[in-house]
Parts: sequence; structure tokens; C-alpha cells
Amino acid sequence: LSKADTMVFDKTGTITEGRFNITDVVPVGVSEQKLLSAAATAEYFSPHPIARALREASGIKRPAKGVVMELEEIPGRGISAFVNGKDVYVGNASLLEEHGIGYSVPDRAGSAIHVAVGNCYWGYIIFSDKLRDGAFDALESLRRLGVRNMVLLTGDVRSVSRPIASSLNFDMVKAELPPDGKVSAVEYLMATKGDNSSLAFVGDSDNDSAALTRADVGIAFGALNSDTALDDADILFMGEDIRRLPLTMELSCLSARVILQNIAVIVSIKLLCLLLGVFGVLPVTAAAFAEAAALIAAMLNALRTFKH
Ligand code: ADP
Ligand code: MG
Repeated sequence: LSKADTMVFDKTGTITEGRFNITDVVPVGVSEQKLLSAAATAEYFSPHPIARALREASGIKRPAKGVVMELEEIPGRGISAFVNGKDVYVGNASLLEEHGIGYSVPDRAGSAIHVAVGNCYWGYIIFSDKLRDGAFDALESLRRLGVRNMVLLTGDVRSVSRPIASSLNFDMVKAELPPDGKVSAVEYLMATKGDNSSLAFVGDSDNDSAALTRADVGIAFGALNSDTALDDADILFMGEDIRRLPLTMELSCLSARVILQNIAVIVSIKLLCLLLGVFGVLPVTAAAFAEAAALIAAMLNALRTFKH
């Protein structure tokens, strides 16, 4: 981490809170409640933050056994399910395009999720998410610590991601990525980064596991909510406070410095005593004192990392 000069961030749940609010419901040919209930039923068992917002807003109860069948969560797209004898698709525009279903292009800001039931388009729902507290300051501190290239990767739409990227001064943003698109982007950045530097990927959820594994340093937030993050990340944050990231990098830089200083101190004291012993300036017993002095010096130096 102390050598990271490229830092790649996932957006939803990492830079933003990943707690969506519904800001608009735009039904086509059905009522608002019917649109919300259809979306929430299909999404009921999904762990995605969009699903949680739908469950809360629609107020529906857990669907009875056998109501939602052939449930498939398509990463970066949405949900496809068979509900009460009909195919239901809940997801972004690519999901509907994939199934050849026409949809309205939203005319308002936010992440739009479209709903189709039995191949009929039922409308869309707009979601909004908030930046994490302290995100701006955290990224500025990382820049001061030596991160030169900050990249934002997301499966969300450009109209939502670009304003976030520019408000936080990201150097590059790639939106509307499928999950394997995040891995390709990480691989490209790994191939183009400097020789003696490393690349860190910061993500939060199951769909980031491949990128977490591929990066030199995989960092996961909210690790308590995700089993795969526990397996794939090198650094785990149990909580979700993004301000801990620059603190962790500072600690890494300090630790790396302390290790190098300690090696230098120990080797020089021992070499000096050896030479003085060989030339008869010091008695052999002085080597024992030198051993202890080198150890104490190294330990006192290492204590500096405890202030973090
Ligand atoms: P990010 O890459 O920013 O972390 P995700 O990979 O979680 O975002 O999702 C990318 C996009 O895929 C979302 O913005 C949404 O359009 C769509 N999507 C993913 N999962 C779902 C779901 N369960 N329901 C609806 N849409 C989804
Ligand atoms: Mg995410």
C-alpha cells in the first residue's frame, strides 16, 4: 500500500453510501404501487442496495414459497425472475436491451431501473445515493501521500458517475461497465503503471471480488457484510468510514520507512563493531553491548508506529 501510486475505486457502496432512496416512480400503463410491488417482489431476495430500497418503499411482505422462481441476479445489470407465471426483468437499460424490450429514456437525474413484466414495459424507478461523509478529504489526503492516478469504475450510468468523479477530482472515470469490465480496466492500469509502484483497488461487495484479487493490493469496505470480500481482499475494513483509508496508507508508509531504517541501523552498528573489533580498538565483549544497543534502537524506532 505504501507504494500505491494508482488507486482504483468502485462507486456504489465505496465512494457512495450504497443506501439508495427512491426519488421518482414513472409507471407506464400501470399504477405506481403496482410497478413498485412487481419490482420489489422480483428483487426480494437480492442483497443489492437497490433491492433494499425497493423492499422498504413498496412495503411488501416476503413472497410465499413458489411465487418467485428461476431467480437470477445478473451482475451489473439487474434481476431476471419468473414471478406468478410471468418473466420479470428489473434492471438497467442493458438488461432490457438484452431481452429485446423497448423502454423510455428517463428525462431526470439519478440511476434509473426499468421494469418489464411478461415482455410488457411497466416503467422505471429513479434511485439516488449519497457520497460518503469525508470522501473529498480522504481522496485529497491520499493524493498528498503520493497517489497520482485516481480512477473511478462503476456499472452505473455516465450521467450519475461523471458529476461524482468531477466533484472529487478523479483523473479517470469509466461507467456502465459490466463486472468483468472492472477487471479488464484494472488489468490495463496494472500493465501501464510505473515499475516500482503498485495499484490498489478499493471495493465493497461480492461483485468486486475479481478486481480485489487482481490488484496488487485489494481493499474492501464493510467486510462484515460480504463473505467473498473476506477471502479476496488484502486489507479489510470492518466498518465503512472512508477516512480510515488515508490513515491506513500513512501507517503503511511509516511502517515501510521504519523497517528500512531499522535494517540500516542494525547493519551499521554491527558492521562498525565488527570492524573496530577486528582492528583491536574494541574488546570482543563490546559486540554483546552492540547487539543490545541495535535491538533497543530498532524497538524505539518501531514504537513510532503506535501513535496510529
Ligand atoms: P457499482 O459498479 O457502482 O458498484 P453495481 O455493480 O452494484 O454498481 O451495479 C451496477 C448497475 O447494475 C446498477 O447501477 C444497476 O443499474 C444494475 N444492477 C445491479 N444489480 C441490480 C439489482 N439487483 N437490481 C437492479 N439493478 C441492478
Ligand atoms: Mg459496489
